[in-house]
Amino acid sequence: MSKHILIVDDSKTIRNLVSFILKKEGYKVTTAEDGLDGLEKLYACEHIDLIISDINMPHMDGFTFIRTVREQDAYRDVPIVVLSTEGQEQDIKKGIKFGANLYMVKPAQPQQMVSNIRMLLG
Ligand SMILES: [Mg+2]
Repeated sequence: MSKHILIVDDSKTIRNLVSFILKKEGYKVTTAEDGLDGLEKLYACEHIDLIISDINMPHMDGFTFIRTVREQDAYRDVPIVVLSTEGQEQDIKKGIKFGANLYMVKPAQPQQMVSNIRMLLG
């Protein structure tokens, strides 16, 4: 069965682009428009194998989203990849501290993103 990836980003362009890349690799994809929507989708899906999250989003930003996901036992081990335009060291440190496994800065090379995801999915 194909692995299920949740993409959380307020940019429709990014959601579509990342979805396209991952679907082409055979992954099942669900998208969410912000952190709150991301939580709803996460709770609604039977199983999510990996989460890709933006940082700057309305309603609930990526830092809060990641921390909220990590606080729950059920999602303690789900790999989380940040994909953000914010590439400052402080942002990267914060993302990792809040529970992200990997922090990628936009624009990310599709092949790099795919190989990182493959690695995280083991
Ligand atoms: Mg954004």
